[in-house]
Amino acid sequence: EIYLDNSATTKPCAEAVEACVNAMTKTYGNPSSLHDVGFAAEKCIKEAKKQIAAALKCDVSEIVFTSGATESNNLALVGAAQAKIRRGKTIVISAVEHPSVLETVHALAQQGFTVKTVQPQSDGTFSAQSFADAVDSDTTLVSCMMVNNETGLLLPIAEIAAAVKAKKPDVLVHTDAVQAFLKLPIRFPALSVDLMSISGHKVYAPKGIGALIVKKGVRLIPQITGGGQQNGVRSGTEPVPMIAAFGAAVAAQRTKLSARIAHYEALSKRLRDAFSQNEDVSFRSGDACVPYIVSLSVFGVRSETMLHFLEQKGIYVSSGSACAKGAHSHVMDALGVDRMTADETLRISFSPETTEEMIDTLVSAILEGEQTLAKQRVRG
Ligand code: PLP
Repeated sequence: EIYLDNSATTKPCAEAVEACVNAMTKTYGNPSSLHDVGFAAEKCIKEAKKQIAAALKCDVSEIVFTSGATESNNLALVGAAQAKIRRGKTIVISAVEHPSVLETVHALAQQGFTVKTVQPQSDGTFSAQSFADAVDSDTTLVSCMMVNNETGLLLPIAEIAAAVKAKKPDVLVHTDAVQAFLKLPIRFPALSVDLMSISGHKVYAPKGIGALIVKKGVRLIPQITGGGQQNGVRSGTEPVPMIAAFGAAVAAQRTKLSARIAHYEALSKRLRDAFSQNEDVSFRSGDACVPYIVSLSVFGVRSETMLHFLEQKGIYVSSGSACAKGAHSHVMDALGVDRMTADETLRISFSPETTEEMIDTLVSAILEGEQTLAKQRVRG
């Protein structure tokens, strides 16, 4: 099995599985209980918070656990928009956000908020200034992802936050850092953002756990109310096994970042070089993209057809984005990729286990697929 769909999800690491099982079998208490069994579970959560805080250089008190980045994005956007409603009702987002941001601001728009969408420049990259330009006296919130999940495009979030705050200091800035966390070096305080979403299952922890990092002093209106856990920001008994697994996965990877980046750069180069003489295979620009997500199009072969051809050989990739399955990609549209090319786009995403041999096998399989699968159209 050659699994090259790590941006969709990852296989939990041994450390995460062990921590999860330990929390289910040993520290099974309710962290809110006043006795020792509850206290042990609370300690488990504190340990995970320390592990995550160490990776992001944030404070442990700034971490709110959620059921995943979808919930983190919902809490950040709706919670901040509602908290700031007396100051204004305009939200600024980028045109390439994940559906969990897009659909959430869409719902806010139906409730009377104004949503402004920042488009990329003609070269497909985003300028920080365009976000500042979109901010007006009614703006209370800006949300921009760090790395796009479909193309690997890196957005200049530190510059965006600085430009936005220079224009209007009280605007809250949120970033969906799901595809960047533990892959790029991120220091939460250095980014000048107020809110950051991360997800466990993209970083070798299980699905169903995520976090929202909330800068000290930033107030959100809770979206899940109840017993007042997590300082009332997100009620519900904390899923201790998932939290423990998330913390353990983060701790296991935190120090390996730079070696991994070098590894991903080598893999990405190998894949690109293999097709450098093949004019039927085109890549999204490497310069503006992270090395662990490679977006490529095979001329004349629909990505779904190629995906299943590769699947028969035990190679697993994604067509565009797993989240945009079946639907037309708003990201490709925004980036000016024509619809035919968008339909021929594969997303290859690496993990530390990806080897050069796997890339070579993928390359041969794509070449074979390109020759075998009927050309559905002629160049022109
Ligand atoms: N944001 C981005 C950029 C993603 O790639 C994903 C992944 O699906 C999400 C948010 C949603 O994360 P989760 O699956 O944890 O809800």
